[in-house]
Amino acid sequence: MISVEQALEKILGHIEVLDVEESPILSCLGQVLAEDVFSDINIPPLDNSAMDGYAVRAADTRGASGKSPRILRVIDTVTAGSISKSRVEPGTAVRIMTGAPIPQGADAVVKFEDTDQSGRGVDAPEVGILAEVAPGFEIRRAGEDIANGMMVLDKGTVIRPAEIGALASLGRSTTKVIRRPVVAIIATGDEVVDITQPLPKGKIYNSNSYGLAALVMRYGGIPRILGIASDVEGSLVARLHLGLDADMLVTSGGVSLGDYDIVRDVLAKEGEVVFWQVRQKPGKPLAFGMIRALGNGGGVRKIPLFGLAGNPVSAMLNFELFARPAMLKMMGRKNLAKPMIEAIIEEPIENTDGRRIFARAVVQKRDGKYFARLTGPQGSGILTSMTLANGLVIVPEDKPGVEEGDSVQVIMLDWGEEV
Ligand code: AMP
Ligand code: MG
Repeated sequence: MISVEQALEKILGHIEVLDVEESPILSCLGQVLAEDVFSDINIPPLDNSAMDGYAVRAADTRGASGKSPRILRVIDTVTAGSISKSRVEPGTAVRIMTGAPIPQGADAVVKFEDTDQSGRGVDAPEVGILAEVAPGFEIRRAGEDIANGMMVLDKGTVIRPAEIGALASLGRSTTKVIRRPVVAIIATGDEVVDITQPLPKGKIYNSNSYGLAALVMRYGGIPRILGIASDVEGSLVARLHLGLDADMLVTSGGVSLGDYDIVRDVLAKEGEVVFWQVRQKPGKPLAFGMIRALGNGGGVRKIPLFGLAGNPVSAMLNFELFARPAMLKMMGRKNLAKPMIEAIIEEPIENTDGRRIFARAVVQKRDGKYFARLTGPQGSGILTSMTLANGLVIVPEDKPGVEEGDSVQVIMLDWGEEV
């Protein structure tokens, strides 16, 4: 049986980066930029004021102080977004608001607090300057953030809100990104019923397809739920054929050793099995392979298929461990690993059969250290062990277990916020 690392290596060896599309910037969150982005404007566009104050000639302020104000004639007021027609000549000043372009002739700004404006009123024809300023003082230079011609964003950058803001600041409404993978999701099992139906005796609701679709969305893909196949090969093949234009196929159930476990056989007939079973717990019965489909040009296209186990914990966990990195690689992402931390385990975990255990755990920070405790019963059918967990504690395959107080590695499932 292959290890988790070997399985991931084989999977990634079969995954290719998807093609590029031009998209509206706001829909690109989390996607990878597929072009170098240059600016064809200056930001800010003109020299402008960093403060509310008076635009002056610095030379006119020489020697100014509270005791010895320099009186200047106020010839105009300029606000952000407009341009003053006046020219600041010796002995004059223009009232100026933050962000407004510096009028001609001025080379510095004196903020309101360093003038006697408050005593005179805002409409006074003159103002006393109470502080000396050097040329350039409180002036934001044209292009000091982004200069015309500058490369602003590199190809390969993951687009976050800051990048979307930067694109908008350049006046870009669309950009080139690596497109999102479409992931087709098929449940299998005669016992499985869709959530829109009444639940007959002995049946269970299809939770897997929805949990998996949510994972696809969380990691930036486009899920397509393709219903439920019964436990006969023809039914699964028919559903698979509905998903042949997807970038990835994910099935749940039917991948163990039972009489009705058809996924591996179907994979072998419709493509190629790359591996089956991984030395881990839960999630051992994972099948991965490539399904044959017809490409656009009439040639053969191969679509990766993840045959996940039916038990909801195994299905979600193996999506996180294996399908997620594959999706991210398709999207052009370079860093494929979830964040991993070291924590102190607060209870023992036994490892009886030499597989790597991924125990669902709650991680908390106390006194600057991380502590992990199990969510309760760890059966692979206990989906609440996932709803309660924020991390997966790893017990290595070559260890008989961990003791209370040991240091363990934890894969953080939700590392958006502090724990
Ligand atoms: P299997 O891997 O097909 O043997 O399925 C193992 C168990 O997983 C089944 O007995 C069901 O309890 C559960 N299961 C299978 N498919 C689903 C599904 N789509 N949603 C929720 N539970 C499922
Ligand atoms: Mg089944």
